[in-house]
Amino acid sequence: MIFDTIATSGHEQVVFCQSKDAGLKAIIAVHNTVLGPALGGLRMWPYKNEQEALNDVLRLSRGMTYKNAVAGLNIGGGKAVIIGDPAKDKSEALFRAFGRFVNSLNGRYITAEDVGIDVNDMEWVFRETEFVTGVHQVHGGSGDPSPFTAYGTMQGLMAALQAKFGDEDVGKRAYAVQGAGHVGMEFIKLLREQGARVFVTDINPELVKRAADEFGCTAVGLDEIYDVDADVYSPCALGGTVNEKTLPRLKAKIICGAANNQLANDAIGDELEKRGILYAPDYAVNAGGVMNVSLEIDGYNRERAMRMMRTIYHNVGRIFQIARRDGIPTYKAADRMAEERIAAIGKIKLPHMGNNGPRFRVRMRGH
Ligand code: NAD
Repeated sequence: MIFDTIATSGHEQVVFCQSKDAGLKAIIAVHNTVLGPALGGLRMWPYKNEQEALNDVLRLSRGMTYKNAVAGLNIGGGKAVIIGDPAKDKSEALFRAFGRFVNSLNGRYITAEDVGIDVNDMEWVFRETEFVTGVHQVHGGSGDPSPFTAYGTMQGLMAALQAKFGDEDVGKRAYAVQGAGHVGMEFIKLLREQGARVFVTDINPELVKRAADEFGCTAVGLDEIYDVDADVYSPCALGGTVNEKTLPRLKAKIICGAANNQLANDAIGDELEKRGILYAPDYAVNAGGVMNVSLEIDGYNRERAMRMMRTIYHNVGRIFQIARRDGIPTYKAADRMAEERIAAIGKIKLPHMGNNGPRFRVRMRGH
């Protein structure tokens, strides 16, 4: 049954990890390593049962293959989950036990933070393996990725403006930004620096107030964000906000934001295409975070990071080209771009030449 599932989803390897003493139950899924070692975060969540955890790790690891491929990284897709409550079940032993399992894969899988995991947890994982990214800056890590994600989102936005309106003048347009959190607030700041009109909403009123007071945005209600007169709708909070209910209300001609899984389903992506609304695919636009951590592998450098973020402009532009070339919606074109790159690079990797494994620069362990 598991083999059938992973054969269908195309996974290379799924590792079940348990340590009774440490209370660890984890699953590591390596989806595809054609482009390089599988990189993807570790999620800790109180899954209802093992099947739910397995489904999640399979879905998320496959998503990382596509995201990393479109980002132009020499990195494959993977992900890990720990079954447990992040508020109650964390311990040094748990994360060190997990780290030992990661180490046993010898670089086929590289971990990072995801939902429920913070930089302090990663310190414990890092004690046991070097195959970790997202470690603290004091160890040569890359720190908070949010400003980079926001800057990358800006690059995706410019590609979308160019494709839709024939110019990249960010300041000329109006934006509906949903979510003024770590990425959203940085994004708002960049938009306002260019003089753009920005409508903003967030469930946290303090963040909305800050966006209004500090950056001069127009505050709107949580539900009102779908009705404002904006050229661009920018989801920077949760997924699934472009759906059957919200789509008829949107006046925007472009959807471009940092949130993951913005489209409720594929049919919505087809509908956007029909209505002439240009969707800049989320995982191409928000790749700044994974680009940033990937640079830790051969020595983190901020300038290289900023340079890499700018490639998002070309990646998103290329997706629009593929959509036109093949007459398909942009969400499908993003997947096609990933598949084409994996196929092309896979062909140049002849078996007798071997693969280049990750070569981490020496980083400092301990506090
Ligand atoms: P965050 O938690 O800092 O910000 C999210 C904000 O959205 C919060 O302020 C929250 O109050 C608000 N929010 C939640 N529900 C809302 C709703 N219904 N309406 C309006 N606001 C709502 O998270 P973040 O790091 O800024 O990430 C934002 C999104 O971008 C997430 O979907 C995340 O998965 C995605 N993303 C983030 C990064 C990164 O580098 N942080 C990278 C890639 C993708």
